[in-house]
Amino acid sequence: MGLAGIAGKVALVTGAGSGIGAATARRLAAEGARVVVVDRDADAAERVASSLPTEALPVTADVALEQDVERYAAAAVERFGRLDLHHLNAGIAGTLAPLPEIEADEFDLVLAVNLRGVFLGLRAAFRRFAVQGGGGAIVTTASIAGLRGAGDLLPYHTSKHGVIGLTRGAAVYGGPLGVRVNAVAPGIVPTGLLSQPAGEVRGAQGLEQRARVAPLLRAGTPDEIAAVVAFLLSDEASFLTGEVVSVDGGAAALNPVRPRTEAD
Ligand code: NAD
Repeated sequence: MGLAGIAGKVALVTGAGSGIGAATARRLAAEGARVVVVDRDADAAERVASSLPTEALPVTADVALEQDVERYAAAAVERFGRLDLHHLNAGIAGTLAPLPEIEADEFDLVLAVNLRGVFLGLRAAFRRFAVQGGGGAIVTTASIAGLRGAGDLLPYHTSKHGVIGLTRGAAVYGGPLGVRVNAVAPGIVPTGLLSQPAGEVRGAQGLEQRARVAPLLRAGTPDEIAAVVAFLLSDEASFLTGEVVSVDGGAAALNPVRPRTEAD
């Protein structure tokens, strides 16, 4: 039996051209949803959309741009007549430079995609739900970087803390309207994210090795994140809103000043 409340729905996934978003698009389609595949990479969006078993619409859009977000929402409604489920997932890693060396433009770019993009996506979703008479579910992609600090990736950490704030605020606003809003906070999941130019400095190196610090001793897969996103979007999670679900092999549960037992 599939997850209740996904079959027949219209789902929109941003950053669905690769990694976690592509996995969510595949999972939601496998559950019977029609999927709007949004990515700034047109080829990637096309590739994922054409690989899905249900009807799918690829849309090339930059989530940081107001007019693009309005366009992707309008395209979805024009094609499918409605929008029920949203995974606001597009994100970039940005600079790994230490704080004193971060250019203001580099900071702004990460905030524009990771935080403004989620704000614009939430706003579009809520406007659409109002037209449809309420209902709907939204999942944002935060990160363990939204819950913890680190000495690098500062714009990224800042943006993901912001995503959690947006998620909670939207959940409080949306509850009485019948709209649920939750976040997933993935740990380390090898994808294209950290193989971007900035990541090549040292982010991609040792990814698997750093993942082994987590209690489950390994990195996750996009499908393991997508499974939780699909659950949160489904009616199985009907009493769950405003929550940040860590999907990180237990990494966020670690006490950093007492990480392991002596036996380790
Ligand atoms: P990814 O690079 O494989 O996928 C991100 C996708 O988003 C790409 O297809 C890219 O083209 C698209 N994208 C980037 N900027 C965009 C924009 N402005 N507009 C539209 N699309 C855009 O990376 P991923 O790991 O799948 O990342 C997905 C989300 O998961 C991100 O929000 C990321 O911060 C988050 N996350 C990832 C990890 C990890 O370890 N991979 C951990 C925690 C959180």
